[in-house]
Amino acid sequence: MRSVCEAAPQLAGMQPYDPKYLPAEAFLSANENPHDVETEIRREIMNTMRRVPLNRYPDPLANDLRDMIAEANGLDRDQVLVGNGGDELLFDLALAWGGPGRTFLNLPPTFSVYESNARLTNTAVVDVPRTSDYRIDEEAVLERVGQGGIDYLIVTSPNNPTGELADELFVVNLLEATDALVMVDEAYFEFSRSTMRPYLQQHKNLVILRTFSKAFSLAGVRMGYILGDAEVIREFVKVRQPYSVDAISQAVAQVVYSHRASFEPGIRAIIEERARVVDGLKRIPGVRSYPSDANYVLLHVENAAIIWEMLYGRGILVRDFSRAPYLDNCLRVSIGTPEENDAFLRALRDAVMGKCDLPSSLT
Ligand code: PMP
Repeated sequence: MRSVCEAAPQLAGMQPYDPKYLPAEAFLSANENPHDVETEIRREIMNTMRRVPLNRYPDPLANDLRDMIAEANGLDRDQVLVGNGGDELLFDLALAWGGPGRTFLNLPPTFSVYESNARLTNTAVVDVPRTSDYRIDEEAVLERVGQGGIDYLIVTSPNNPTGELADELFVVNLLEATDALVMVDEAYFEFSRSTMRPYLQQHKNLVILRTFSKAFSLAGVRMGYILGDAEVIREFVKVRQPYSVDAISQAVAQVVYSHRASFEPGIRAIIEERARVVDGLKRIPGVRSYPSDANYVLLHVENAAIIWEMLYGRGILVRDFSRAPYLDNCLRVSIGTPEENDAFLRALRDAVMGKCDLPSSLT
């Protein structure tokens, strides 16, 4: 055949997810940990690697790792599930709780993957946009779930890309107000020190998403997990790819998780740097930053797309949201090393003050 029939209709007009990676000196665009796993832990990983059988399929459910995560969270194994990054578990959520005739409640602006997953699975999307300062419109959300017909929603806390925590009491009220499955996406919770985990026992409709990609420096390995009611977890198990979490990733994650306490100083340093970056941003005229409990800061600046290019011209890659819905003229900067953060603040000040070269697109 020289032709092929059309792909599934829900793909028409969709754009593939694009992290917009470009070569740069300072990668401040993907909310990664600026420090790789330290040498001692890497050595232990390498030693463990030698014993991993490569000819055998991995344990499909990664039970050893599940046990470690369960124990650390005061839960049983069947209340935990690991996935190929949080991303896989987000897709599993749409497969298990979405689908034709089902509805997802979205709170934009938020992580764009949620909406794509809903569209890919033919799930209807209802938006309750955030307020102008990016807080959840709590009253509107409670009113909408009260009307019924919502099958699942995701409360991102801290929210990506805007940075703020969801109010704990609001989430509790939400869990009481609906029997929809409420995922609280805590991908960045290590930087906020705030979790809904204590509410798991009382609320069967609560599921919590976490990742190894940020605080634990493992974005390259792809490992995420959910905590929830055993029956909810069982539904996720039905839709997941049987071997999505490979043997290497399981082994790496086990070593890293067993050393999780040693990541604490790094997490604290990022939190301190976050305060320094926010302070630096306040001193740059025309820049408005939003409060953040995560390892990134959203900022608003006139001509953000041009400012993005000027920063990139200085080797600094931040995330350009300036054309995204609800995020007009917004850029998101991840917290990097002190040197990277200084270079970013210097370059941003120069860009805003007109001391940077104009981007080639404008010359
Ligand atoms: N949730 C949020 C809010 C995120 O920002 C990300 C990463 N960008 C994820 C989930 C998924 O992370 P990963 O697949 O790396 O675990």
